[in-house]
Amino acid sequence: MIRSLWFALRVALVIVAAIWVMDHPGDVVVTWQGYIIETSVAALIAGMATLMLVATFLYDFWRGVKGMPVFFSRWLKAARQKKGYRALMRGLVSVSAGDVRAAERFARRADANLSDEPLALLLTAQAARLAGNEEKARLCYLDLLGQPHAAFLGVRGLLSQALAEDKLRIAVRLARQAIKLEPRSRWMLNTLFQLEVRAGDWDKAEATLRTALRNGALLPHEADRSQVAFFVARSQAMEADGRHREALDLATRAHDLRADFVPAATQLARLLLADGSVRATMRVVERSWKLSPHPDLAAIWIGLKPDVNELERVNWIGKLLALQPQSVEARLAFARVALSARLWGEARAKMLAAVEGEASVRVFQLLADIELAEHGHTAQALEAAGKWLSRAADAPRDPVWACSACGAPQSSWNAVCPLCGAFGGIDWRVTDARQASINPGETHNPALMEPLVITAAS
Ligand SMILES: [Zn+2]
Repeated sequence: MIRSLWFALRVALVIVAAIWVMDHPGDVVVTWQGYIIETSVAALIAGMATLMLVATFLYDFWRGVKGMPVFFSRWLKAARQKKGYRALMRGLVSVSAGDVRAAERFARRADANLSDEPLALLLTAQAARLAGNEEKARLCYLDLLGQPHAAFLGVRGLLSQALAEDKLRIAVRLARQAIKLEPRSRWMLNTLFQLEVRAGDWDKAEATLRTALRNGALLPHEADRSQVAFFVARSQAMEADGRHREALDLATRAHDLRADFVPAATQLARLLLADGSVRATMRVVERSWKLSPHPDLAAIWIGLKPDVNELERVNWIGKLLALQPQSVEARLAFARVALSARLWGEARAKMLAAVEGEASVRVFQLLADIELAEHGHTAQALEAAGKWLSRAADAPRDPVWACSACGAPQSSWNAVCPLCGAFGGIDWRVTDARQASINPGETHNPALMEPLVITAAS
């Protein structure tokens, strides 16, 4: 609105000026270098206006031509960037898919088109590692280390190389450097903690665990579990070192924190028993048994009365059953002792009661054992045992100690998975044994070997 008013005003001014010139005719005579030019005032003004228009046009044209290279270079840069980012994305996909040749090709293209982009450098490193060129990858990571906003990516890359080469001390140093750059990195705190535990650096590991708790890098349910597993692991290490008093203190802390955590109870119970504190051991087992009945606790309970006869042992395990009368675990523990004492009826009754609930494989196997133990290998007993075993085949699996990180079943609880090195991953769970396909001795901890690119933002 204001613009159109302004335009109308300017047109009006030109018209007024033209009328004024028409109303005031006159001649102009210019004498210059022997030339005489005679014209009217109106023609002179028109000529000058034309000249100014032409000059303006020529000036604009010249500016346009002068700006051409800048325009073209900008256009070319934008086109290169677009090409570079497309190559970057396809390269990251190729790395994830494990396609070495494509990853290298896209890495070269991304690098050529995005020379200042740290992610292109990261892709080059990833592609180099995929192709087995660790040295080239290391140089790229070192390059990243020098870039203020990408230093974490560099440290993380170097760390993953150190982990793959099992260079524990270098890995710890790099993880600490990385945490200074990204103090809340969950992956990095977890990795540092696991490395410190593996190195037996308990004080540093505890400090890292506290940092992780303070920074919220652990979820509430993980926090308790990590702490209790840490106390038990440290207690076991102290015990192995012959530092019984410290081992006992740590086991007590673990059991106070989570009485339902069976490894804490068994560790404390064993240490108390070694001191000859039978009553204290009983209290520990009873407290944890009420929360989570477990065969390891039943074994300790039975071990508390080594010199009693079989009938007395049945009475003794009966006390544990009385604390958890509906529990399948308690019934199984009782039935096994009753079977040893040749109390067939008692053993069978407990197992039949278990069958009415959610009976697992062990219940049916024990029923088959009872048949054969009572009647010997007669045709009738074999038939009855066979029936129970066929039901065992369809029954739900029993829980075992198994690593949640690699899936491998274990004969006992351990803070660090002996197969994959994950900390606190082993728990009492129903597992598919086929998951454990890693060769013994080969370390593959999913937490430690997490792909770098996919989680670069963690
Ligand atoms: Zn594992």
